[in-house]
Amino acid sequence: MSILDRVVSSFESLGGVAKLKDIYDVYKDISSKEEISKTFDRSIQARIEENSKDSDAFKGKDIFRTLYGKGKGVWYLKDKFKNLDEAKFVYEFKEKNLDLWNEISNKKIHSNDFVRNEKKIHRGERGIYRDLSKTKKYSFIDGICQSVLDTGRKYDDVLTETHLTYYYPDTSHKTRDKGEINSLKNSYKYNIPIFVVLGLGKDKTKKELRLGYVQRFNDNQKSFLISFVENSIQKILPIDDIIESQNEDESKDELFASGRERRKRISSSRGNNQPKFNSDVFNYYQNQCAVCNIKYFLDAAHIVPVKDKGSDNKRNGLILCKNHHKAFDDGFFKINPNNLKIEIIKEDKKILNITRDNLNHLINKPGKMYLEWRYKKYKK
Ligand SMILES: [Zn+2]
Repeated sequence: MSILDRVVSSFESLGGVAKLKDIYDVYKDISSKEEISKTFDRSIQARIEENSKDSDAFKGKDIFRTLYGKGKGVWYLKDKFKNLDEAKFVYEFKEKNLDLWNEISNKKIHSNDFVRNEKKIHRGERGIYRDLSKTKKYSFIDGICQSVLDTGRKYDDVLTETHLTYYYPDTSHKTRDKGEINSLKNSYKYNIPIFVVLGLGKDKTKKELRLGYVQRFNDNQKSFLISFVENSIQKILPIDDIIESQNEDESKDELFASGRERRKRISSSRGNNQPKFNSDVFNYYQNQCAVCNIKYFLDAAHIVPVKDKGSDNKRNGLILCKNHHKAFDDGFFKINPNNLKIEIIKEDKKILNITRDNLNHLINKPGKMYLEWRYKKYKK
């Protein structure tokens, strides 16, 4: 990738409008060490100016524009926005949320009154909150999400210290559901931080607040993957995905959870990061059970199980329906790592409702080393 390509990617992952300072950080993240010269920040600035009609140095393509004029250090991708005002609106909305987070994040737990009325972080009874009077503007016909509320108990497969799986609303107000989902997709598209409001179980008078970014969404699973940040400087997303996609080398897969993975798992009693794993696995495979093709009641199953410290690598996963997940875990069938054949151990195919003979139909395949480990470990 050329320097210019990487600058554009950095803007894209920051939502299209950003401070130079942030562009430098992301650029460093997506470049190899050899690609970072001592004066890389100056070459980035030079590329931006050469490709902006706002600059006297303009001589290339018209890609970038300044947000507040020359020398102010904030730029945007011209084609990502309708006009200057829209870019400004997005940038200022983002900054406002980050400022608010800086102001309140010294405390984790806040009263309902603080969350609802004082700071207007989450209002009303719906899970997704958007202030249409302030955000239904420009391209945002459904507004921009301000916060999501999750009052469910803390299940490890939905909520960990680092991630939350947030399911699309499914209420009797279909149009409203759709609008709310779109408002959260806008947060994804423009990398706008959202507040996550968590219930505290029995104590209904207070809420825990976190700041997060929508890392991905999956229309089949009808869910968003939200990643939490600790401070307003930390930029998680979707940069993580860009870095991950550069590490597509299967030979570097590890059987067991790495140190970094394990550290991320600390807070979870199950010892893994199920929300992130689910999202990775569902993005990697088709949306159906690998052995019976059903498209509902699906789980992301570990091949090397979590209890054996199996990795959260997507190739250590399989999509199975709840029945076949249970059957797999209880040793009713195995997957032969050499030819991907489904070997029935207990009962028979018909009784188990297994309709496939093997997993060769999968476009993306599970990792051989995970299958081998399991095949040997669970001999019977
Ligand atoms: Zn199944």
